[in-house]
Amino acid sequence: MPPLIVELKLLAMNHLKGLIREVPDFPKPGILFYDITTLLKDAHGLKAVIDGLSANYHGQGIDTVVGIEARGFIFAPAVAYALSAGFVPVRKPGKLPAAAERVEYQLEYGTDVLEIHRDAVEIGSRVLIVDDVLATGGTAAAVIKLVRQLKGEVVGLQFVIELDFLKGREKLPGLKVQSLVQY
Ligand code: AMP
Repeated sequence: MPPLIVELKLLAMNHLKGLIREVPDFPKPGILFYDITTLLKDAHGLKAVIDGLSANYHGQGIDTVVGIEARGFIFAPAVAYALSAGFVPVRKPGKLPAAAERVEYQLEYGTDVLEIHRDAVEIGSRVLIVDDVLATGGTAAAVIKLVRQLKGEVVGLQFVIELDFLKGREKLPGLKVQSLVQY
């Protein structure tokens, strides 16, 4: 990458970082929570994030953008709109009214479940997955499973924030994974 582009990317990343609030010990002691509400309320910041999340996917034939409850719902529909694609929600269990596919996945303590409507993704359709934070990668890996259960093709995953030290992308092998801001 030319040095000027590298420098511009760094500037953009630092600008976004400046808009993300870091809240220690939330929701429990020892967790540093990255609060994106301070980024969302900034008009330029919000536009930069939606533009950044969609930039590499214009003209890539994305049919569906999948967003993960709850904070993924803030970004994924805007990305879908930017790409002229549809939006599909992946929800916590028991929220979807029609027949749903489910996946159970491992948490640090215990397990969790996510669901998607069975008719939400067409066979062979090109899917982009969007969420706010890539932490351990467990959630994203579960969503990939759901999309593949419906025979959709996962083209890539886009995150606003990536927590590098948790090595989440190791749970997403062979896939194009991008994030706008890394810690
Ligand atoms: P994971 O399955 O570990 O990759 O966790 C991803 C989900 O947890 C994301 O959807 C985030 O909303 C949330 N999350 C995990 N860690 C943080 C954090 N430090 N700050 C804000 N959200 C987080």
